[in-house]
Amino acid sequence: MKKILVTGGAGFIGSHLCERLLEAGHEVVSLDNYFTGSKKNIVHLMDNPYFEVIRHDVTMPFFIEVDEIYNLACPASPIHYQYNAIKTVKTSVMGAINMLGLAKRIKAKVLQASTSEVYGDPKIHPQTEDYWGHVNPIGERACYDEGKRVAETLFINYHRQNDVRIKIARIFNTYGPRMHPHDGRVVSNFIVQALNGEDITIFGDGQQTRSFQYVDDLVDALLLLMNTEDDFIGPVNLGNPDEFTIMELANKVIELTGSNSQLIFNPLPSDDPMQRQPDISLAKKQLGWEPEIRLEEGLKKTIVYFDQLLSSS
Ligand code: NAD
Ligand code: UDP
Repeated sequence: MKKILVTGGAGFIGSHLCERLLEAGHEVVSLDNYFTGSKKNIVHLMDNPYFEVIRHDVTMPFFIEVDEIYNLACPASPIHYQYNAIKTVKTSVMGAINMLGLAKRIKAKVLQASTSEVYGDPKIHPQTEDYWGHVNPIGERACYDEGKRVAETLFINYHRQNDVRIKIARIFNTYGPRMHPHDGRVVSNFIVQALNGEDITIFGDGQQTRSFQYVDDLVDALLLLMNTEDDFIGPVNLGNPDEFTIMELANKVIELTGSNSQLIFNPLPSDDPMQRQPDISLAKKQLGWEPEIRLEEGLKKTIVYFDQLLSSS
């Protein structure tokens, strides 16, 4: 049994990760300031005596004795990370410094939830880990993209200078149950709009692409990554390479929900990446992993979740 800290443990991905770590028999501490996460996501775990819940902000130092740290604390949806851009930079950068300093002191292994956003609006396709990216440092998305890029820099330098055992996961668009209904990301937006019979908001012409990964596949990969040999540190792309236009996603959601919703077209937000698809050769080789859940299957599970959530509220 290991003692494991999950920052952002009450968020969408963090809550699934806490659940899986507890199922595997570990002692888990969730640290969260509930900016975008919610106790509702973890309330079903709170009876477990091996689960501890702490309200804390990762921008402030934190002391605990653990074997492993998963650093997930950071708003991930553009509307939320742009709400307070300075705070988003602080969360990524000071959060990384605090978690790396902690890992250094207590000799814990630490995994960073990085992102495909480090590639920005990519000029090579699909994206491989050796691509340095195409990011606007002063754009609307920079607080998140550059914050996560600096976090990677901090991780690699704590490793080089202080021998901290690190893992860097570059996570591509992930969806599933426990996304917040007003999270603002495309999958949850479209499903909630379709179930409510509201207009489906396509930004731009809907020809931009994303590759959507179901949350269970991601959690499998994060657990495998944390348990790789110490000499494998990443960064490693974790995503589902099946690529869809946003228009295709909208039509798929309408079909699966049987909704009468209409498509409406809103302006494309600035610096919105035009295409995104992970090359997952490295993850296949190093983790022996590839995603198993196809978009249609994952969407069906997510629709069931939101249907129950909306009908109970
Ligand atoms: P989320 O917003 O549901 O979860 C983030 C969690 O971090 C929330 O519980 C939030 O309250 C918490 N948090 C935010 N700021 C904090 C702070 N200063 N101190 C403590 N807690 C704080 O988002 P998610 O989709 O679960 O994302 C989790 C992580 O994965 C993030 O680091 C995100 O950047 C990364 N990621 C997610 C995706 C995706 O598609 N979901 C893609 C790439 C990377
Ligand atoms: N998007 C959209 N309608 C929405 C929300 C998002 O068309 O209601 C588009 C958005 O412009 C982007 C894509 O869907 O091109 C994915 O957006 P999301 O915020 O989910 O993730 P990210 O842009 O960070 O990949």
